[in-house]
Amino acid sequence: MKSYINSVVEKTLCKAEKIYNREFSRIPVLFNLKGMVAGQFVFSGADEFLKFNIPIAETNGKDAFKNTIVHEVAHYIARCLFTKYIKPHGYEWKKIMMDLDTVASVTHNYAMPSSVIGTRHEYKCECQSHFVSTIIHNKIRKGSVRVCRKCKTQLFKC
Ligand SMILES: [Zn+2]
Ligand SMILES: [Zn+2]
Repeated sequence: MKSYINSVVEKTLCKAEKIYNREFSRIPVLFNLKGMVAGQFVFSGADEFLKFNIPIAETNGKDAFKNTIVHEVAHYIARCLFTKYIKPHGYEWKKIMMDLDTVASVTHNYAMPSSVIGTRHEYKCECQSHFVSTIIHNKIRKGSVRVCRKCKTQLFKC
């Protein structure tokens, strides 16, 4: 996955160099992003780098994750082409995403790795499966009764 991300970063920068007819210096690509954020372009002073979340990339697969890689590289390109004070997802960034033939979405709907969502416990009523958090699961074990909103029957552990 790391080498895939590196290769998409490189391909995107090469493509941008052709489109804008200039060079973009290569910046570090880090893989230590955690939690629910898929990718980030970070800059502080002269330091600029790209950060990606490997558990999210692996949970969702390369094709789905590609959009995030191009999204973050486009932030870096925007910072190179324009002033520091443009809006992160403003006109300039959207134009770059268009030039790179990539859908400019600001939010993603990636599935979260189990390390992020925590353990879910499966229960069933008469009509469907329900996934409950450990907190609810422990309450049910101690005698709390949960009823399905749809079929009004009590949930039981699978
Ligand atoms: Zn963004
Ligand atoms: Zn039900």
